[in-house]
Amino acid sequence: AEKKENGHTIVMFPFMAQGHIIPFLALALQVEQRGFSIVFVNTPLNIQKLRKSIPPSSAIRLREIPFNSSDHHRLPPNVENTDVLPPHLIFTFIESSISLKPAFRDLIFDLVRDGDPPLAVVADMFFGWSAEVAHEFGIFHAIFSSAGGFGMGCYFSLWLNLPHRKTNSPEFLLPDFQEAGQIHRTQLAPSVSAAEDNDSRSVLMRKNFWKWADSDGVLFNSVEKLDEIGLDYFRRKLCQNVWPVGPIILPRGNPVRVEKSNGFSPEKCIEWLDSKPPNSVLFISFGSNNTISASQMMQLAKALEQVMNTNFIWVVRPPLGFDITAEFKAEEWLPEGFMPRVVETQNRGLIVVQWAPQQDILSHKAVGAFLTHCGWNSVLESLSRGVPLIGWPMAAEQFFNAKVMEEEIGVCVEVARGVDFEIACDDLAEKIEMVMGESEKGKEMRRKADEVKKMIRDAIRDDEGGFKGSSVVAMDEFIHAALLKKEKIH
Ligand code: UDP
Repeated sequence: AEKKENGHTIVMFPFMAQGHIIPFLALALQVEQRGFSIVFVNTPLNIQKLRKSIPPSSAIRLREIPFNSSDHHRLPPNVENTDVLPPHLIFTFIESSISLKPAFRDLIFDLVRDGDPPLAVVADMFFGWSAEVAHEFGIFHAIFSSAGGFGMGCYFSLWLNLPHRKTNSPEFLLPDFQEAGQIHRTQLAPSVSAAEDNDSRSVLMRKNFWKWADSDGVLFNSVEKLDEIGLDYFRRKLCQNVWPVGPIILPRGNPVRVEKSNGFSPEKCIEWLDSKPPNSVLFISFGSNNTISASQMMQLAKALEQVMNTNFIWVVRPPLGFDITAEFKAEEWLPEGFMPRVVETQNRGLIVVQWAPQQDILSHKAVGAFLTHCGWNSVLESLSRGVPLIGWPMAAEQFFNAKVMEEEIGVCVEVARGVDFEIACDDLAEKIEMVMGESEKGKEMRRKADEVKKMIRDAIRDDEGGFKGSSVVAMDEFIHAALLKKEKIH
């Protein structure tokens, strides 16, 4: 549809990680379609990369604010994105991002001074502090959570309560979650697991979470019917507007990060998929910054070799302990002869180094399941295409994404947790076969994934006849609330 400018500007400000920047860009493109002018804020290196990702039809204005990682204790130089950050430094990186505050304030000040006062600031879940900046100028402020309500709610409840510190039992209940909040110690990210009441991480996370309550509302990249328990948690906890506007997914083929792929263009992947029967390919990827251990990689490869009637596309990163930019070393990382036997002779698999065109792959009818770390974008991208999940959560709220998708929605089977989990290749092969094959369970999962696909499609319907899905209504409500605030103040 032809978009008409409405004269209002919305500022978008994601945390410096692909899993945050990608959904923010998707949100920006969508909001722009409604006639808003978008100012997209980030640090210079991220903005540079983004220049290639803005479609020519878009007028999104990219704005840099300076960040120097060397100014921060323990951060290596020139780090502006978690994709080049050793995982143990994530919290330091989150903490250091508060130093963006003065520059962000200057940016808002300049917009106001230049006669373009934003209607709203939409900021990252880790940038609760930005509410203060927006409100100083009387500007509406919303958090955009690129994670789902259930996963994020469990994660926050953990940081707020540290329930595992109050019991010796391996299983315990998360406060505020009733039976859906029954969790196991192995579902704790190492950072949460080691947390103490007063250590800097807990203080940081608690402080940030309560800052969400200073905001005027929270947009979730989620769907009301898919995520009722989690959205309800935030409505109760924050006593505030919660708008599930998802799935906010980047249009296919958007090159947010292609420079690291090793010659497998989207076209090459699609061509390969075209040669495979429907539902015969397992797609394997652990998101934008996770990797598995060397022994897990071996076991996974052995499992893939065992499941003879399954093909695969596997996004491979250097296993734990290797430099994250290391060259692919099949002889070291995979079982002896794996490449010549399985990849070359049997032509059963495509090994893609570092980065694959995930959305194009998931959209292809040859793909039958997704072995995923259950990052929320991956979950939504997969379910939007009706592709069931094989869960291997690695960090943060991914454990709870896997849990809710398995226990409440029925579209996931979990096979492992984290990097210390001992994988038995037979067991893994059996589960892959169950999901991909003709088992009752597999059929049931595919049926449910198809239902969820339709549920998602309904949520984003905006028919000429007047019907609006829940996500469209939520977006309307967010915009209405922002306009109302502007009217009241000015
Ligand atoms: N992605 C991709 N190719 C890859 C790995 C990831 O296109 O090889 C994209 C994926 O489609 C998703 C995002 O990167 O949009 C990853 O987000 P997610 O929330 O799943 O995981 P995170 O990276 O935050 O752990």
